[in-house]
Amino acid sequence: REIGGFPYAPGASVGPDATARESSPVLEATLRHAVAQGEFRLAYQPIVDLRNHRTVGVEALIRWPRAPIGPDVFIPTAERIGLIRDITRQVCLLAARDRITQRIPGSIRLSINLSAADAETMETAALLSDLSLTLGDTALSVELTERCLLSPERCGPVIRAIRARGIQVHLDDFGTGYANLQSLVELALDGIKIDHRLTRCIDDSRAAREIVRHLGRMAGALGLSVTAEGVETEAQARWLSVLGIRRAQGWLFGRPCFIEDYPAARPLAQIAAPDAASGRLAPG
Ligand code: C2E
Ligand code: MG
Ligand code: MG
Ligand code: MG
Repeated sequence: REIGGFPYAPGASVGPDATARESSPVLEATLRHAVAQGEFRLAYQPIVDLRNHRTVGVEALIRWPRAPIGPDVFIPTAERIGLIRDITRQVCLLAARDRITQRIPGSIRLSINLSAADAETMETAALLSDLSLTLGDTALSVELTERCLLSPERCGPVIRAIRARGIQVHLDDFGTGYANLQSLVELALDGIKIDHRLTRCIDDSRAAREIVRHLGRMAGALGLSVTAEGVETEAQARWLSVLGIRRAQGWLFGRPCFIEDYPAARPLAQIAAPDAASGRLAPG
């Protein structure tokens, strides 16, 4: 069947619960074509300072406009069939282009997600190093999920090389996996991002609040910044402030959207992304 002109394997789920296991030969072939044709785009989502709601950074999130699936589905497939390094290169170039055309001011920290395969090769460190030269004196971060860190002996040197270029390394989806306290011991990092599944619980769960409070303290003691992901409500934002968390990201402050959909006349530093009512949104 076809969804929006995109051939998709019968039986494959395209909803939010679709997983990499539902990958198919059709998806693989279409993905290869997309990489060859450069069909990807970046959406950007603001990261704000909770004290004044100013945008301090943006996270680049890959979008595949032709396909009705998000990166949660196609990135794992790309990893499995060996396309991720090409995709990461394209993401870096797209981000650099947006940065250079001045649409993302240098004062705004730009975050790029890396995959496990990226974190294990010095080529990625070299790529980011080139990128940081191109971008000059601008704030750049990469986000790694803890899956990247399952082999610290391979990732450690890559992470050190990235940080040696002045690029920050943040651990994504923190608090939901199995290896992350260990990785804080083994690797020098700059920050952690508290997973949205934990953020979502802080309203209702005293346990979640205590965990977030202590994660914040622990991170502070280790010199790490903390960003809470997936903040959707004012109540969650208030709790995070009370719990000592300074930085947050989520639909409350701005959905991921394409760069041209940010109001052009106002500097990005002063705005959040348009909300669902006012802007054309990138999916997700
Ligand atoms: P992530 O890096 O943890 O990104 C956060 C995800 O949460 C994004 O999903 C974002 O759209 C979504 N999100 C943001 N705010 C909210 C909110 O308030 N509520 C809810 N429910 N969700 C929110 P997205 O864009 O679908 O990306 C999913 C994952 O795919 C990312 O998780 C990241 O691991 C991966 N990914 C995205 N772009 C790239 C990329 O360029 N390269 C690589 N290697 N992975 C990427
Ligand atoms: Mg991320
Ligand atoms: Mg995350
Ligand atoms: Mg995630």
